[in-house]
Amino acid sequence: MAVPKRKTTPSRRGMRRSHDALKVESFQECPNCGELKRPHILCGSCGHYNGREIVAIEA
Ligand SMILES: [Zn+2]
Repeated sequence: MAVPKRKTTPSRRGMRRSHDALKVESFQECPNCGELKRPHILCGSCGHYNGREIVAIEA
């Protein structure tokens, strides 16, 4: 079985994990209703995207 030749030091382990953190999701204001929505994604509160209503929202 393949086995690591050397122990991974805490420093090396930390360097490897420096890219593992989850990023905060980005948000922008919906131009139609002003709610925060994710870019390139249909607005969840008014159903608009790119200036048009895509999905009708009840209530
Ligand atoms: Zn909206």
